[in-house]
Amino acid sequence: MDIPTTPLGQSFAALPDLFYAPVAPTPVVTPTWIGFNNKLAETLGLDRGFWQGDEGMAILSGNKVADGSQPVAMAYAGHQFGNWVPQLGDGRAHILGDVTAPNGQTYDVQLKGSGPTPFSRNGDGRAALGPVLREYVMSEAMHNLGVPTTRALAAISTGERVQRETGLPGAVLTRIATSFVRVGTFQYFMARGEHEALAQLADFVIERHYPDLRDAEHKYVKLLEAIIARQAELIAHWQLIGFIHGVMNTDNMAVSGETIDYGPCAFMDHYHPETVFSSIDEFGRYAYHNQPRIARWNLGVLAQCFLPILHENGDAAVQLAQDAINAFAPQFDEAFKTGLCRKIGLSLTEDNMALAVAYLDLLQEYNLDFTNGFRKLVSLDPAEIEVNANKFEGDSWRDWLGKWAAAHDNEDTSLTARQEIMRLSNPRFIPRNHLMERMIAEAMDGDLSLFNTLNQVYQHPYDDQPEFDAFTAPPANEERVQRTFCGT
Ligand code: AMP
Ligand code: MG
Repeated sequence: MDIPTTPLGQSFAALPDLFYAPVAPTPVVTPTWIGFNNKLAETLGLDRGFWQGDEGMAILSGNKVADGSQPVAMAYAGHQFGNWVPQLGDGRAHILGDVTAPNGQTYDVQLKGSGPTPFSRNGDGRAALGPVLREYVMSEAMHNLGVPTTRALAAISTGERVQRETGLPGAVLTRIATSFVRVGTFQYFMARGEHEALAQLADFVIERHYPDLRDAEHKYVKLLEAIIARQAELIAHWQLIGFIHGVMNTDNMAVSGETIDYGPCAFMDHYHPETVFSSIDEFGRYAYHNQPRIARWNLGVLAQCFLPILHENGDAAVQLAQDAINAFAPQFDEAFKTGLCRKIGLSLTEDNMALAVAYLDLLQEYNLDFTNGFRKLVSLDPAEIEVNANKFEGDSWRDWLGKWAAAHDNEDTSLTARQEIMRLSNPRFIPRNHLMERMIAEAMDGDLSLFNTLNQVYQHPYDDQPEFDAFTAPPANEERVQRTFCGT
């Protein structure tokens, strides 16, 4: 019988040798499905019958190389916590190839936790079940929250143990991204003086992500500008939903503008700008309020890597890079401020922005939940201050609500329209840390029901789903997660 498969394209593997190491995944003992993302498979135009069958499982667990596939581990460098590391690369990931979806977009298919590569250094090349489930749920939740991100197509348990602080069950994740090119990929070639490769990489990125620039004049200048613009949007989005990436090293920043590398990332519960969860972020470098600054720093590094291809004249190149990087702050500000005003149902003005910031200050002062604090506004009629004031406590709230009502009076749209804007700006459901921990603990005991339920709930994070109200609660004191781990 002819099995209809989806042949994988090989556009990354078609790049010159120095971009990657050709290496096959290491087989695993007993692959078992944990999750397969039907909706994503459909978006990608994949034949579900094939990929969910025995052969699909063999390929996605690393037990078989698909016909015509040339698995590679990508080379990259990066600054980790500000320190230069000239060679990182995929130490436990294999790009199997790419698929072009019915919408015309090409996506790379990558296994993570699929065995060692020449870039593994001392690592075992494997991933534990917990971090795989966490990335699966969180990246899909981010997608449904409307944030550009890598996606999770499948998770398979390996039947093998991985040794971390203790022995843990192992798993392999299938990640999908429009590409896995990072700031660190450009750094890798810049550091080696491989200027030809820089241009080839830039051309690959244009083909994949910015095809409109293909024939543009000064295309590399425009590419740099476009990458910076997408990052400004992305980071504003993170800030607006309280997402803390946790390891914003330059090797974890994708030039596609997608969120990548879900390690110790976490959503903020109670609002505090200095919130940091990652156990390895000792000094709060990647704390919530530092994310825009760090993104700009990373993009400054990227701009330096672009110097040899921006202009043949060194001074002119520096000027172009400088101009491009200077655009980050205003672009971020615009996106963030517009979004923050939308969270309180208002258009962007200086007064409305001050009001939104005052709300953040109140949340901080009263130690209140960031997500629920904003979501609460959706169901309030600003005109009913007296009724509403009883739902909050204290004079500072009454005062704020009064100003909020006055600001709403100045808007010329309908209240219904403004409430809809608030609803779509303030999620009801986010993947909270304590839920992620509970889900992982239960999965380690063989119970995947919470994993499945949460995946379902996070498909519609902006909808009220009363039957799942329990998942909107902030953690009780004993549930509060203080630290998250890379799980590597
Ligand atoms: P990350 O902190 O996950 O971005 O990883 C930083 C670097 O370490 C990347 O080059 C990873 O591929 C590599 N790495 C992380 N965990 C492992 C592992 N278990 N085995 C081999 N390489 C790893
Ligand atoms: Mg990484």
